[in-house]
Amino acid sequence: MKAKVDPDLCTGCELCVGLCPEVFRMEDGKAVAASPVPAAHEAACKDAAAQCPVEAIKLEP
Ligand code: SF4
Repeated sequence: MKAKVDPDLCTGCELCVGLCPEVFRMEDGKAVAASPVPAAHEAACKDAAAQCPVEAIKLEP
């Protein structure tokens, strides 16, 4: 699975980093995703995408 954060939408709330620090990190005030997502962290990554308040996290199979 691939993950990408749309920097134009991300508000830098850090929710995704809290939910899945193995995949998301902050860079210049915006979240950045490690991609491809390691299989062991796919569930947490999907949770972060679902909970992102501005739907900035895009996932691809
Ligand atoms: S949860 Fe969404 S808005 Fe918040 S830092 Fe992550 S990508 Fe950005």
